[in-house]
Amino acid sequence: MSISTFGLNQSEHAAAAGAAFREMGRIETLMSSHRDDSASGRLNAAPRGAWHPLDGELGALLERGMAVQQASDAAFHMGLRPLVVLWGFSQEPPPSQPPPMEAIAQWRTLADGHLQAAIQLRKTDAGDTEIRLENAAFGLDLGAIAKGYAIDRAMHKLLDLGVSNALINAGGDIRAVGNKGGAPWRIGVRHPRPQQVHPQVPPNPETVVAAVETTTPLSMVTSGDYERFFDYEGRRYHHVLDPHSGAPAAQGWASISVQAANAELADALSTALMNLSHAAGQALLEKFPGAAAMWYRADGERYKSPDFQGEWLI
Ligand code: ADP
Ligand code: MG
Ligand code: MG
Repeated sequence: MSISTFGLNQSEHAAAAGAAFREMGRIETLMSSHRDDSASGRLNAAPRGAWHPLDGELGALLERGMAVQQASDAAFHMGLRPLVVLWGFSQEPPPSQPPPMEAIAQWRTLADGHLQAAIQLRKTDAGDTEIRLENAAFGLDLGAIAKGYAIDRAMHKLLDLGVSNALINAGGDIRAVGNKGGAPWRIGVRHPRPQQVHPQVPPNPETVVAAVETTTPLSMVTSGDYERFFDYEGRRYHHVLDPHSGAPAAQGWASISVQAANAELADALSTALMNLSHAAGQALLEKFPGAAAMWYRADGERYKSPDFQGEWLI
């Protein structure tokens, strides 16, 4: 993750960026399902089918995420921890072959028909949030939304501290305000298949497919099939899973960037779009004012929402 600011002296920058990094660390501690001691880690260890108290901030994020989960017919789904573990994308390094078909079939037997009811939220009379996970097919995994939320919170920290020109970059997930000392912020979207551009040299991770220039507030998040993946018998398997099939998204998208009102929404939508056709994805975006996307397939086929801010470079 990196934080760039303009218009601050060195110690002001250090103080503001430090506060923003600490805020992101706080959110990771709360939400990471890789950690047994996080709120979501503890919930995943608790019995299914019962109501459990939930941290209010986590509950509020889940409620907002549920809007995308429902609008996308579970293309984005925050309850897929057991499926992520089954595929091995929770481990480092990722695996080199798919799990046995029977294991996926078993997961689907438990999950089918329950995707909508998988995560239930309610408020107690005292105003506290409670959560219920339907069955063992489901456990919280906020990997597709929490990074966006952390970027949003970090940006609010910067703004609270009087920063007016800043860019936060968390592995290509971006939120920017203001400008780069009078010039626009210029953001590149990584090419998902850099070896296609420079077949004769080793893949250059800096090769970009698109660029966005902005002096107005921007949130842009990219999902793709090229960061956590393995190739097996000629097929690419990557870490965005389709709960309807129990397998990685198979729409053929190598990279999808979404711009939206905030990074949290852009994060959730970009993951949802990996599981949807271009037409279904565009229809989903239209339910969220200001949301727009850029889609790129491994074979070079590409699409852009009419109001996406940015240009293809290849
Ligand atoms: P990145 O990890 O690059 O930010 P995403 O935002 O697309 O990518 O999130 C992918 C992560 O979200 C996976 O590693 C997994 O933990 C979780 N996940 C996988 N499939 C889905 C899905 N369909 N909906 C929501 N979360 C998912
Ligand atoms: Mg996401
Ligand atoms: Mg993401």
